[in-house]
Amino acid sequence: MLQGKRAIITGSNSGIGLGVAEELARAGADVVLNSFTDRAEDHALAADLAARHGVVVRYIAADMSKGADCRALIEKAGGCDILVNNAGIQFVAPIEEFPTEKWDQIIAINLTSAFHTTAAALPAMRAKGWGRIVNIASAHGLTASPFKSAYIAAKHGVVGLSKTVALETAGQGITCNAICPGYVLTPLVEAQIPDQMKVHGMDRETVIREVMLLRQPSRQFATVEQIGGTTVYLCSGAADQVTGTTISVDGGWTAL
Ligand code: NAD
Repeated sequence: MLQGKRAIITGSNSGIGLGVAEELARAGADVVLNSFTDRAEDHALAADLAARHGVVVRYIAADMSKGADCRALIEKAGGCDILVNNAGIQFVAPIEEFPTEKWDQIIAINLTSAFHTTAAALPAMRAKGWGRIVNIASAHGLTASPFKSAYIAAKHGVVGLSKTVALETAGQGITCNAICPGYVLTPLVEAQIPDQMKVHGMDRETVIREVMLLRQPSRQFATVEQIGGTTVYLCSGAADQVTGTTISVDGGWTAL
């Protein structure tokens, strides 16, 4: 379905980004993986994905906290047909104690990077008359929780940016949307389970159901495959008129 399309996924050497890369490659797209790490295993991930799906996969290092790096990623890739803004980090603290450098870093990586990559990618999409921009926001792009001020401000910003880009590209064969996942079982979330078990004195299943997924009515994690599949849908012809909107993949969180 996506043969001949090139997809760039920011922050894609683990978790949701890698899951999205996998599903886009399965659908036939050539893929550019990215992170700031530039390790041998990052390049090995690219080789493995290419071998399994018979598509071209490259790894390009770029630090999404730096505007120049964001724009250089698009340029080094030779532009893209599909841009998935996924790189993101989290930090949790009450607002009076929230370190300024953490605020700045979260806004830069989770929000400002999407401004730079989008601005750099759009001219080539406009020239081709086709493009897909998929921003990985969060249920926290639509609702709030305490102690996550920077993350929630950034994710609400991503939703607003997605709507604005959709208006600026409407009728040009380009769409821009935000996917809003609830809790997804990625290595980042998996690593929190043992601590939560200790803090609450609960076994793994109980801490997942009663603590971590308290706000997710399905009491089930979303999966990286489901976020990848939603991205593939947004890249399909069925979604040609789906633009400037959010798609929640959150087990009912935002229906509460
Ligand atoms: P993760 O830690 O597994 O992945 C984050 C990715 O971002 C990694 O590939 C990392 O290398 C990359 N990254 C971090 N800083 C970077 C930088 N400066 N430059 C380039 N790359 C950088 O986490 P994840 O759970 O897969 O999260 C991916 C995205 O999904 C994030 O935007 C996150 O906010 C969002 N999200 C996650 C969940 C969840 O429950 N896991 C829920 C909603 C939204």
